[in-house]
Parts: sequence; structure tokens; C-alpha cells
Amino acid sequence: MDTLRFDNRFVRELPGDPEQGFRRREVRGALWSAVEPTPVAAPTLLAHSHEVAALLGLDDADVASPAFAQVFGGNALLPGMQPYAGNYGGHQFGNWAGQLGDGRAITLGEAINANGERWELQLKGAGPTPYSRTADGRAVLRSSIREFLCSEAMHHLGVPTTRALSLVGTGEQVVRDMFYDGHPAPEPGAVVCRVAPSFLRFGHYQLPASRGETDLLRTLVDFTIRRDFPHLSGEGEALYAAWFAEVCERTAVMVAHWMRVGFVHGVMNTDNMSVLGLTIDYGPYGWIDNYDPDWTPNTTDAQGRRYRFGWQPRVAGWNLSRFAQALSPLFDGVEALQEGLQRFADAYTQADRDTIARKLGLAACRDDDVERMEALQGLLQEGEVDMTLFFRVLMDADPADASLSAFDEAFYDAARREAVAPALRDWMAAYGRRLEDDALDAASRRERMRLANPRFVLRNYLAQQAIDAAEVGDLSGVHDLLDVMRHPYDDQPGRERFAARRPDWARQRAGCSMLSCSS
Ligand code: AMP
Ligand code: MG
Repeated sequence: MDTLRFDNRFVRELPGDPEQGFRRREVRGALWSAVEPTPVAAPTLLAHSHEVAALLGLDDADVASPAFAQVFGGNALLPGMQPYAGNYGGHQFGNWAGQLGDGRAITLGEAINANGERWELQLKGAGPTPYSRTADGRAVLRSSIREFLCSEAMHHLGVPTTRALSLVGTGEQVVRDMFYDGHPAPEPGAVVCRVAPSFLRFGHYQLPASRGETDLLRTLVDFTIRRDFPHLSGEGEALYAAWFAEVCERTAVMVAHWMRVGFVHGVMNTDNMSVLGLTIDYGPYGWIDNYDPDWTPNTTDAQGRRYRFGWQPRVAGWNLSRFAQALSPLFDGVEALQEGLQRFADAYTQADRDTIARKLGLAACRDDDVERMEALQGLLQEGEVDMTLFFRVLMDADPADASLSAFDEAFYDAARREAVAPALRDWMAAYGRRLEDDALDAASRRERMRLANPRFVLRNYLAQQAIDAAEVGDLSGVHDLLDVMRHPYDDQPGRERFAARRPDWARQRAGCSMLSCSS
């Protein structure tokens, strides 16, 4: 691991908190606090991503060395690492929550790989920081497995995301009250090392803005553009406007991908929104089984279901409005920020149309195709049809086959199937006529659809099965899922069971369809 080089611009160029250590506190006038990971009893490497290791220039021998688990479990630092916790605020479930910060995440440093790329290494669950408030700074194995697997699955699905290098068991227990119902219990603890060019969130800008610390806000924005958006040129307000517009555009593209693959983030608070447009902070997320725009996996949000699947685009827009508000002290008027928000709306519409063309296998999306997709989604919801299976099968289905037998495996309920069959048959027939009108030849169409409609997603119940086994010491399920998700658009003969629709037992099981924020 002595090949890892660090260039820690965040702590070098931005003001930090003068106090060291993890005494809980309000931190004003500073963007970070120096704090070291708290060592754990017995760090053991449980899984790692070969691809992320390679990105960092680490080979198999590095990963296998005892030092690897020590460093990425939080027991040792490599030369050049300068650990810190970041200071940010955020809107949680629509309300301004004030200072939040990295309560259990600790950045180790900014690694520079052989290509000159910058990759920030951040431990999650590495112990208390000044921002831990009343909590312990730790993470349980089940939520760490979920973050580790989903980061990599999303990457291979082509969704912008933070990555995950490693999953290290701590050999310590962590006490959690999973459903906040007065039943705390010890669970195995773990640490994930996540990796991204930057973990800056909307909340990083909101916090200084909320305190009237305009100079600090400007310093952070200038830094972000310099380090993470070096392709932007210009100066002053025009540069800030170009940057904001790009954040808006990236956010739109990210959410359009979520909608394409059926991902529900679950906690789209502004402290969980990356300025790089990366999916960040995998908590009570979930995957759509039967198509249902009103579904959310997050039991903490069960009442209002603010973060339901179908609302994600508009919530992203709302979050960007809060972000714009935070940036407004840097602008003379509101026009440039409004243009950025318009960019979000336009970019989302464009990305959504692109998704429709790709999922339906069309050369381009016409206005009537938008209606076609909406009509189909209505039928999938009414018929309780599995989203992933339906679209995957569609590429090989004969539109004239009135039996709909190609979709057998995608239905959850026979009566619902009966009810929706006539309308679905009509939809298929109209789709068949539409295809005759389209420029793509059959082979190109099939390939376009194959690459937009995954065979494998990280179904909630599959992750839970892997977790159940891991909690009794069997990591094979985690390794298998990681491997399956490396090629989500390939059929992978012999691995059909990873593509199966949710079994009945998983419908109402904790971890499979219901998740709390307790992690
Ligand atoms: P999240 O809902 O995971 O995005 O977290 C919201 C805030 O709570 C962030 O400031 C987290 O750092 C903090 N937090 C969550 N879990 C813990 C924990 N176990 N210990 C300390 N801080 C935590
Ligand atoms: Mg968070």
C-alpha cells in the first residue's frame, strides 16, 4: 500500500476547526474538524471491490496484507493521511435541521492514482466525531453490507455513485433499536471505506449560508470549482452560475437513472445530495419490485412518504431550490439561479425521454411515446407487475402474442393479471405498430433495450439473504451478489435465481420491504 499518494487539498486549502478530537460541539467558521478513527477490537476484511482497489493502484497482495484491514478498519493511518470529519447542515424531511456534519464518517485523505485522478477515501462507522451528537459514530454490519453492495451495483448499472473499496468487520458489537420500538439489541459492527472524487453535499453550502458566513461560503464554492469542476471557465457570478447549472444538470441525470433502474434512495435530505451528482449515503434505500410509484422502503417516512419512488424527480428539484437559496448571497439577482433550476427541469425532461427511448427500444422518443410509457406504467402498477422483469422480457416479446406468456414470471398476482390483461394486450399491439414505424433494425433495438433494462438489480430480499448469512459468519452471499452485480445487463446462465421476483415471504419482512434509518 506504499504506492498510495495523498494530496489533501480540502484540509490544506479550507479553514478547519482549531479544536482536535471528538468532543461534540457546534463548529462555526470552519468546514472540517481533525479527528482520528477510533480503533476497533479485531478488524477483519470481509469483502472488497477489485475494481475500486485497481482504481487506487492496489493489487491483490495489498488487499490481502494484514495492514489493509488495519487501515480500512480504522486502526492505523498510512503516511500522508490527514483524517477529518466534514461540517455540513441540511434539510431533513423538509425541515431545516441546522448543523449535522460527518457524525460517523471520517475522511482519511485524497489519494492521487497513477492517472492523476483524485479519489477521496472515507471510512463510515469509524467512531465518534464532533458531529456525532448523541450517537456512537458506528455502523452495523447489515447497513454496511447494504452500502458496500449497492455502491458497486449502481456503478455497474451505469448510475453515477460513490464507490466502495472495502467492508471490514470490527469484531465489536453495536447496539441498535432497529424499529425504534424500545427493543435495542447488539449487532455486529463494520466499517465501509467509500471512495469518490468528493463527498461535498448541498448541506456543506447551506450551513455557512444559514449562519450568514458568506465569506466561508464563497471560499468553499471557489474551492469546489477549482478542485472538482476545473473545466469551468469564467469568473465571478458567471462562473458561479455555470457551476450551479452543472450541479442541476448532473442531479437531473442521476435521478433519471434511478427512475430507469427502479432505485428508491429513501432519504433524499439535502445533506444526502452530492454536488457531483453522485448517489450518496446508502441507508434505507430499496429497489422497486412490483411497479409502484408510491412505494418507499423507509419506515421512518411511512406517513408522508415524501421520498417515494415517483416523487424523486420533484424532490431533487426542491432540494436544488434550497441549494440555490444557500448560494443566493453570491449573486446580485435571482435570475441566474432560476436559470439553473430551469436547466434541471429541462435536463430531467431530456434524460427521461432518453430513458423512454432506450427502455422501449426506439431510435428516438416522440411525444406520443411519453404518453405510451405513462400508460404502460399505469398498467404495471394496476397489474402488480415486476418492473425489472417486465422491461427485460419486453425486448424478446412478440407484440402480437395475445397470451402475454412471455411475461409470466413478472406477475405477482393471478387476479391482478387477469384484470389488466386486456389493456396490456392492447398496449402491446399498439407498441408493435409503433415499432414498425421506427428506424432501428431488430438487432439494434434488442441491444439498445438490453443495455437499458438490467437483468439483475440488488433486490431487497437478495441483499437481506446475504446479510442473514453474513451475520452468522457466511460471507459467500455477499461475494456472490457483488459478482452478479458486476454484469447486470448480461444473462449469466446458472444465476437465474438472482433475477427472480420477490418471493412471498419477503413481502412484509424487515430488511426486504421495510427499512428504518437505524443503521
Ligand atoms: P443519515 O440519515 O445517515 O444521512 O445521517 C444524518 C446525520 O446523522 C448525519 O450527520 C450523520 O453523520 C448522523 N449519524 C447517523 N448515524 C450516526 C451514528 N451512528 N453516529 C453518529 N452520527 C450518526
Ligand atoms: Mg447522510
